[in-house]
Amino acid sequence: VTSQKAQVSTGGEGQFIKNTIAVASGKGGVGKSTVAVNIAVSLVQAGAKVGLIDADVYGPSIPTMFGLTGEKPRVEGGKLFPIEKYGIKLMSIGFLTDPQTAVIWRGPMLAAAIKQFVNDVLWGPLDYLIFDLPPGTGDVQLSLSQSLSLTGAVIVTTPQSVALADVVRAISMFNTLKVPIIGLIENMSYFELPDGTKEHLFGEGGGEKLANERSISLLGKIPITKALRERGDAGNPISLDKETKESSLFRAISSQIA
Ligand code: ADP
Repeated sequence: VTSQKAQVSTGGEGQFIKNTIAVASGKGGVGKSTVAVNIAVSLVQAGAKVGLIDADVYGPSIPTMFGLTGEKPRVEGGKLFPIEKYGIKLMSIGFLTDPQTAVIWRGPMLAAAIKQFVNDVLWGPLDYLIFDLPPGTGDVQLSLSQSLSLTGAVIVTTPQSVALADVVRAISMFNTLKVPIIGLIENMSYFELPDGTKEHLFGEGGGEKLANERSISLLGKIPITKALRERGDAGNPISLDKETKESSLFRAISSQIA
């Protein structure tokens, strides 16, 4: 990825963002935010400066996954300060809107909000700015790809064919927008039984097949684990514990993005 560095200069002085990475999915509920959060944690643990933008305007989950619901960012002189937790600088639509109220966004408003997140947030220098995108192929993806040259996109899918049909559309969108695809992550790949057998609840081999067909790399397969779900809900991502199976899988994935 190094050769395609975006090197975006944004906002105030001293803001220099080396890599902008979109985490995308064809449809919702496949674990895109979970993957984005755990990749961010792994990159920080490897010594990188990381920011994470929750651009999932329809269901921002980053505040929950970091235990920051109800937090509001500081605003000063028209600039927003990201909220920092676990060494990651965070900004979310969820910090700015009331979680009880449905926010209705028109295309141009979405584009403006995304632009503001990049330009009017005091990120400081970053090695990686990760975008947790809404699922699908809509306005946010389009405005993001047009307003900055993304270093690349990581696509998250589950093994079933329905998810794969959606993911094909997401891949073709990034191809059309000339955003390099860093690779595919197959989430909820299997469930490991106590005897070590892998139960492929949602089918087997879907991610590999798709990656081969599209000539993109399969960055990793993440099992369904209770810890991933519980620690996500608790605002305490599992990758913070370096010794877990999950964190070593996310480390392996992050090393291919870095
Ligand atoms: P998306 O961002 O694609 O909508 P989320 O990351 O919010 O998906 O995940 C949806 C739900 O599934 C969350 O409750 C999350 O904790 C859970 N989840 C995601 N990936 C896994 C996994 N590999 N194992 C267990 N639970 C998972």
